[in-house]
Amino acid sequence: MAEETIFSKIIRREIPADILFQDELVTAFRDISAQAPTHILIIPNHLIPTINDIKASDEKALGRMMSVAAKLAREEGIAEDGYRLILNCNEHAGQEVFHIHMHLVGGHSLGPMLSKKR
Ligand code: 5GP
Repeated sequence: MAEETIFSKIIRREIPADILFQDELVTAFRDISAQAPTHILIIPNHLIPTINDIKASDEKALGRMMSVAAKLAREEGIAEDGYRLILNCNEHAGQEVFHIHMHLVGGHSLGPMLSKKR
């Protein structure tokens, strides 16, 4: 069984977070360490540790994550200028919290998608 992370506590509102959206499938809240004027995390309510663990039965929640990202981007006023959605998987991508999460970042120009540094 995968181990719960701090994000499960946020979903259950056991620890504080700036929750912007929650329904039966997903929760969205502001990142505690924002890397851009808008930095929101959108997560499935049930624990999926990494993208490698996704099953067909997760597809409804994953689709909802995308539509909630678009809705929140509109609400944040960044939809027209643009924004970036990021999902990190495992060590090479720098995944730190093992409950999959989509970063919604925007509010200024974000530069090249990937750093050229290795
Ligand atoms: P990762 O590197 O795993 O893709 O991103 C994890 C993100 O979760 C980071 O941007 C980090 O700032 C955020 N984060 C970690 N712990 C907490 C927390 O307790 N509350 C909130 N709101 N964000 C968190």
